[in-house]
Amino acid sequence: MKVVKNVLQMQKIALKHLQNGDEIGLVPTMGALHEGHVSLFLKSKRNDDITIVSMFVNPMQFGPNEDYLKYPRPIEKDLEICEKNHVDYVFVPPANDMFPQGYETFVEVKFLQDVLCGLFRPIHFRGVATVIVKLLNVSYANRAYFGMKDFQQFKIIEKMAKDLNFKTKIIPCPIVRERSGLAISSRNCYLSADEKNASRNIFKILKEALQDFKNKDLNLVKRNAVSKLKKIMNSKIDYAEIVNFNDLLIADKATKKAVFAIAIWIGKTRLLDNIVMIK
Ligand code: AMP
Repeated sequence: MKVVKNVLQMQKIALKHLQNGDEIGLVPTMGALHEGHVSLFLKSKRNDDITIVSMFVNPMQFGPNEDYLKYPRPIEKDLEICEKNHVDYVFVPPANDMFPQGYETFVEVKFLQDVLCGLFRPIHFRGVATVIVKLLNVSYANRAYFGMKDFQQFKIIEKMAKDLNFKTKIIPCPIVRERSGLAISSRNCYLSADEKNASRNIFKILKEALQDFKNKDLNLVKRNAVSKLKKIMNSKIDYAEIVNFNDLLIADKATKKAVFAIAIWIGKTRLLDNIVMIK
């Protein structure tokens, strides 16, 4: 495994692999790796000749009062996890190499970026889309892997790749959960033991909503879920919405495939979760 810390060097290495006929897989992450990330590595290992994992806490996707500085960066442990899973290259660029002084170019995916999390984190998805374009250009990836835990992010990247005719295939990967049902996240380490225990109810409530989806009015499904979410200790809901799988518009009676997407604060930790619902 090789650790690459420089953008041009990473691009040169990737280009060489491309010219050798290797198929390249990219797994973009912000580090603080866990089993959710590893499931993406393993999918790339199955599909691609070369797996590149990027670990970059992207300043552009954090708002002014968010946790950019506090975000966990356990680099040594992360490298061990990559090594153990036979990642070929770990790309860890410094922020000023990705976004040097005078950087001016941004990518926006209208509408999809403005709903759900976009209402609460206005610059977030523009930062995400921009860094992903850069990472794809640096890695020459044939495939890039994204977790469905960040469902809106996946839809935005998928749409961007389609609209801009990227050659990279955008591959969705299922949510990896703890035994309790809690979706694994790098931010779960902010939760106290009690908060973590309480957070397991989120998935339970989503599963109950899934049962209701088949035979109840959607407004009622949402109302039931929201009233249960409000009862979780120290919770504050940013949103809990049932949206169409494809366009993220609010689902209605005609919707056959929907996603119940939730962003909820448990104390000082913001958690995302969702469940796909099919009639
Ligand atoms: P992050 O480091 O949080 O930016 O996540 C990097 C990638 O890993 C994103 O595509 C996430 O959706 C994905 N990911 C994070 N947590 C999970 C999980 N529990 N299950 C599956 N994918 C995940």
